[in-house]
Amino acid sequence: MASQTPALPESFTPGTDSVFSDRSGFFSMDTNIPGLSKVILNKLNMKDYGEYRAAVEGKRPKGISFKDYKEMFQRMEDTFKFCTGCNSLPEHLREGQSLKRCVKCLNVYYCTKECQTKNWPVHKKVCKILRLVAIDRLMEWLTSRGDLPFTTNVWNKPVSEVKCWDDWLSMQGDLSTRLDGIMACPNMETLWKNASRPRPEDTDLRQSIWRIQSEFLSRVLTVGMAIQQFHLDPYSKPLTIHIVGASHNETMGARLTDFDELNHMFQKHDGIEVVMVGPEVVDGPIMRPPLRAFGPRQRVFMSAHKGLYHQFWEDIVETQEGARPDLVVGFHPGFHANQGLIEGWLPTLLLLRDYNIPTLFTVFNEDELKYSLQILLELEMNILDSGANPFSSQKAEQVQSSPNTLPVYCSSHFVRFQGLQPREEFAEPPTGAS
Ligand SMILES: [Zn+2]
Ligand SMILES: [Zn+2]
Repeated sequence: MASQTPALPESFTPGTDSVFSDRSGFFSMDTNIPGLSKVILNKLNMKDYGEYRAAVEGKRPKGISFKDYKEMFQRMEDTFKFCTGCNSLPEHLREGQSLKRCVKCLNVYYCTKECQTKNWPVHKKVCKILRLVAIDRLMEWLTSRGDLPFTTNVWNKPVSEVKCWDDWLSMQGDLSTRLDGIMACPNMETLWKNASRPRPEDTDLRQSIWRIQSEFLSRVLTVGMAIQQFHLDPYSKPLTIHIVGASHNETMGARLTDFDELNHMFQKHDGIEVVMVGPEVVDGPIMRPPLRAFGPRQRVFMSAHKGLYHQFWEDIVETQEGARPDLVVGFHPGFHANQGLIEGWLPTLLLLRDYNIPTLFTVFNEDELKYSLQILLELEMNILDSGANPFSSQKAEQVQSSPNTLPVYCSSHFVRFQGLQPREEFAEPPTGAS
């Protein structure tokens, strides 16, 4: 009997930290196909190398390498190949049977016509958006090649007047030259020559470029929004911002310039330092110690530290090897997901609360926001604000193992909190009363 639970998640169980021991082998794939490790992990919704390893184990036990781009894109696509109706993986199919793609979205697969017909009432609700998801999935490769993100303009409006994407876009002038440049780049041609689907219309591609750009900018604009909402003043002193629970999503392929939009936002600021901290931080150019003293004015200084935040606090902040943060931001900390994660996050959450640190976390959807709020309230956090993030990523993200679920958006919602809930004042009980 076909189970309602997708077959894939079992092999996608997140691994422990130990899986990182042979990650160097994983990243060496990049020597064959530049940017591949980033594509595989970051672009296929995989949390970490452990998930990736589980997915490929048994298929290619050793020395993963791809002979060309065609194979790389094919392998990427392969991780999405299972019957959306009955969850059959290719190896479950009978002799002569093969998975066929939905011709509308070119994203989900079916083992038989029956499976597809039966699944259509559910799939038709997401088929349209999944078509875009499948395009973005391929187009994201361009970010690993440096063709994206495109350059942005200095802000000509005060930060307080830029409240949503439309406000931001209105400061960018005509985007078409920048989009034309990307449309004409050699990697765009390589991509569609080798992808396992025909090149979509130019309008589709241009919209996809924007969605991917928005995902990149979403993080930095969310940080900027938090600076503003907490009334932090980057003109009166240098600011230190910690990105807590940073994972491969933020750090793989991260460049020293990734938060430079803050320079456009707060021109001539006194110096902004961004420190990524998390056990899944990936090595790269930003891997360097935080600033001991104030950094250069009008510049963003990025660094990263691999480890748990409360440990970082003890080792670096307490010893004054790094500054105490003016703001802490977490992108999808995900502590609501299970008991283990809550326990892992607890020391950090208590530390943030007890040191009264202005904090903003983002989540993928409204449900996650609800569960996160519950946990924060149980910890007696002083919640200041929560809701939809005006700078949510515009790129839909497929729940890989369950394609018919409504796609999610990175940082779509946020919660902002600081310190302990104020206690209600009660009148002192009269002395001697009993
Ligand atoms: Zn099936
Ligand atoms: Zn479809």
